[in-house]
Amino acid sequence: MWKLFRKRKRQRRSTSVTKHYVEHKESARQVVLERLQYFNQHYSLEWKRVAIRNQRRCWGSCTSLKNLNFNYKILLLPPHLRDYIIVHELCHLVELNHRQPFWELVGQMIPEYKLCVAELRAIDKGGNSVGHLLTVREAYLSGSIKPSNPA
Ligand SMILES: [Zn+2]
Repeated sequence: MWKLFRKRKRQRRSTSVTKHYVEHKESARQVVLERLQYFNQHYSLEWKRVAIRNQRRCWGSCTSLKNLNFNYKILLLPPHLRDYIIVHELCHLVELNHRQPFWELVGQMIPEYKLCVAELRAIDKGGNSVGHLLTVREAYLSGSIKPSNPA
């Protein structure tokens, strides 16, 4: 009985998670494409395809085939951290590693990238559930968390 209850609960939860993804996927794509184009005025790079995914852990990734993937929950992040993730993946089109030249490239558009990395790490500690991310956003809006790069 307990098991059955748990199973039902889990199914209901995953349905609402999927629903949130379906409802926000296209607005996430719009924001990602707009910011990619904005930062690419500086970098002038080429990518093949941008995919918006519902990923458990990863905020974004870049493949050797020059495909960019982003977590739709990037939409829920404070804008300066969203921008940092977008620039990070954009720069992976040039350097598919995290060595110094890569960070120099990121730093051209996000000089305070180290602070962004630390802020994201702090957010990630609480996982990336929609509830947690909304709480984080609220904390930024109310000023109880200070952004490293107020936009
Ligand atoms: Zn990376």
